[in-house]
Amino acid sequence: MDKPSPKQAVLRFAPSPNGLLHLGHAYSALLNHGLATTNGGRFLLRIEDIDIARCRPEYEEAIYRDLHWLGLDWEHPVRRQSEHFSFYQRALGDLIDRGLAYPAFLSRGEVRQRVAACEASGKAWPRDPDGAPCYPTEERKLDRATTRRWIAEGRQHAWRLDIVAATAATGDRLAGRPLAWNDTGYGPQGQTGTVPARPERWGDVILSRSDAPSSYHLSVTLDDALQGVTHVVRGQDLFHATAVHRLLQVLLDLPEPAYHHHGLVMGEDGRKLSKSNRDTGIAAYRDKGLSPSDLRLLFARDGLVLDGLLLD
Ligand code: GLU
Repeated sequence: MDKPSPKQAVLRFAPSPNGLLHLGHAYSALLNHGLATTNGGRFLLRIEDIDIARCRPEYEEAIYRDLHWLGLDWEHPVRRQSEHFSFYQRALGDLIDRGLAYPAFLSRGEVRQRVAACEASGKAWPRDPDGAPCYPTEERKLDRATTRRWIAEGRQHAWRLDIVAATAATGDRLAGRPLAWNDTGYGPQGQTGTVPARPERWGDVILSRSDAPSSYHLSVTLDDALQGVTHVVRGQDLFHATAVHRLLQVLLDLPEPAYHHHGLVMGEDGRKLSKSNRDTGIAAYRDKGLSPSDLRLLFARDGLVLDGLLLD
């Protein structure tokens, strides 16, 4: 009998067009493309432009230009998340119907006030792995009739995951197994291998906002599943976010991809690169006359390699 052929690897690079791609993006894109090519897999480009207020067509054009300059090619058509809001909304509706998501009405200012009042009284306010204050939990228990009325009156609101209810709802689905993921790369503290997922550290994460009908967590998780992504290879800055993605995968019955979080390219000042700094943009290196292969030397400075690429 023929052995079943191993599943073809599907990798993706998923930038947001809200600024210029920097060297870190170049590394991630080259790594994903290299892994796909050397393993006989597919390489997808996905434009994550759900934040319609901050994403701009000129940044999307710059993404295509920069990736072409790096020598990359990708499958067409490119998935642009802003064209698929109804897809993400359906999953959100499912979470709402199951009582796992609730409408959240507090403004940024109101949240800030609560955090400041708590900290002024000497108590610590819970902060997420990125150091941002978690959203207050008081609206979880608002009664449905009230929230329906407020929404009908046109009150601005977001939808948030009730992280306690959501984590509890994984019980049956996990059948005793802990929520975790397998990482062939490294987290910021060197975490690797089987990593326990602790999504509760993020608090009640946002699933949709009044000005963006989906969130990063929801759309990235749904799209990776829809596009059959087998290996999520991305920067270490998204390592902890994986806990939320694993939770959503279990809640929404989605397959679990393999994860590989890679180190970050640092600036000359030893700090994380930012999309708003033109000097570290890929275009700046192109304009200085560097070639894509010169970039490998810059990656190597941060211990980031592209050679000897094999997937587990
Ligand atoms: N769109 C995200 C970003 O630009 C990356 C998404 C991901 O790789 O999971 O930071």
